[in-house]
Amino acid sequence: MGYAQIQAASEALAADNRDPLCFLDFPVQASVKTSNILGKVTDSAAAATAISTGQKTINRYLGLDQNKNRIETVAETLRNIGRKIGILTTVSLDHATPGGFYAHVDSRRNYSTIADDLFASGFDYFAGGGFHRTPDAPTHAEENGYTLIHSFEEAPATNDGRLILSSSLIFGDYGVLPAIDGGARVDWLKKATDLAISRLTNPAGFFMMVEGGRIDYFCHYNDAASFVGELLDFDKAVQSAIAFYQQHPEETLVIVTADHETGDVSFTKGDRSALLSQIISSDTCDNTLVADCVAAKTSFDQALPIFASAFGLTNLTAKETAVLKEAYYRTIQNSMPGNTSDEESGVYDPITTACINLVAARAGVVFGSGGHTAKDVPLYALGIGSEFFSGSYENTRIHDAILEAVSAYPIS
Ligand SMILES: [Zn+2]
Repeated sequence: MGYAQIQAASEALAADNRDPLCFLDFPVQASVKTSNILGKVTDSAAAATAISTGQKTINRYLGLDQNKNRIETVAETLRNIGRKIGILTTVSLDHATPGGFYAHVDSRRNYSTIADDLFASGFDYFAGGGFHRTPDAPTHAEENGYTLIHSFEEAPATNDGRLILSSSLIFGDYGVLPAIDGGARVDWLKKATDLAISRLTNPAGFFMMVEGGRIDYFCHYNDAASFVGELLDFDKAVQSAIAFYQQHPEETLVIVTADHETGDVSFTKGDRSALLSQIISSDTCDNTLVADCVAAKTSFDQALPIFASAFGLTNLTAKETAVLKEAYYRTIQNSMPGNTSDEESGVYDPITTACINLVAARAGVVFGSGGHTAKDVPLYALGIGSEFFSGSYENTRIHDAILEAVSAYPIS
């Protein structure tokens, strides 16, 4: 979530006469450098480690320095002084960013060890979209004193004890369903944040890290409207944090930032409101609309209105229609049994790719990359101790500033 992602969401909201993102007017705004210890473009593991431990490391490492020495995370430090701890994400519970706050492993892909570290963390609350390779999670949870639930309805009536919300609204093996697809997924991160606040609030204080984890994912795949949808979903979770701040202004610090930018996003002239008209993610489009059309051998004339409505593509020009038609035929051909080659169409079916490209073009959003970039990211801070966050600095400073704020304003 770099500056451009925030600009895309902000301009889309403005074009649609909707309220702005809730954190843009935070009193302290800063610029954060994200490179890893080698000065290279970071991955989420090295970035999470830098933010959580105050030390840069090598890509893929979680909670370890470059020599694989274990380093304490800010969540562990605050746990050790009696604060309650919550870690929330829309991706899987064992993914790199949440893992960066509780795990100590030399590969972000070592999911079973990361899960072991989660269960051993002693943290009070986790929320996310399941585990990659931990079929025995219920046993681990019970052994470590956690109540494991899969929906908000199952949340215990009392706030005692440790809780893991491992959502049943799963997207492949990769976390909670995309926000843009709506349905049962709506406001999931906000609800998880509200539940965290209600469970973690206590006289000794708490620390929580809440990740909108799929902004990055959809920037990787250049699906502009879906990344905006994830950002707006994240913004609602921040609104919950602000509401808590407003009730406890003398003892609450809210920080909004990112681990890196993805997609090298920039802008040309366009109607940013096009980013709010798409109502299906690329992944879900492939799995539902495309799969149905292929199975039924739907004609292009019948398929076009279905795709146009899902992606908000009104008033198609002859040129746009021709692009979609060509992509649709490639989709039908490539998806036929015995012909699975889609090398040139990218990760999605050609018609899905054509639709997201058209939305981005109409919105004036340009992707320069499918990967992470070296761009600085913004940081916004509100509340007690926010003065420690002003300036332009390396991401390791975030860890240091949190602890400076904690020690400058002890809980009385
Ligand atoms: Zn990424």
